[in-house]
Amino acid sequence: MIRIGNGYDLHRLVEGRKLILGGIEIEHHLGLLGHSDADVLTHAIMDALLGALSLGDIGHYFPPTDPKWAGADSMELLAQVHQLILDRGWVIGNIDSVIVAERPKLKPHLPAMINSLAQKLNIPADNISVKATTNEKLDSVGREEAICAYTVVLLCEKS
Ligand code: MG
Repeated sequence: MIRIGNGYDLHRLVEGRKLILGGIEIEHHLGLLGHSDADVLTHAIMDALLGALSLGDIGHYFPPTDPKWAGADSMELLAQVHQLILDRGWVIGNIDSVIVAERPKLKPHLPAMINSLAQKLNIPADNISVKATTNEKLDSVGREEAICAYTVVLLCEKS
């Protein structure tokens, strides 16, 4: 048995916040605004994992109204979501993600993001793809007001 899930997330870019993507802090004059560390890539991956098993979304498990999750490390939340998947007898087949950002240039940081995710999920880096593109200066992402991420994940039932 296999199951597929997709995830999407967007966070605003603001001054005075860190830019964290896939657990990697990236040097930039703007960072992502959010209740947690606002790691938009990791949030999209979590929603894809939950979606694959019809388990709802991350807002259900980590509500932004709960002070417990203020400033949370999204990679730790990812580990919790991954455990839910494992507990139900499923393993990750592969993950494919796209980050849409006008700036900074993300390409040099993609291998570090992939390795960080692979380590946290304890799966081979080959099973994780993270790509980056721009929005050709169009809409909020193109105006550097936000960064968004899309993810598709395949889950396989443990034999
Ligand atoms: Mg989010």
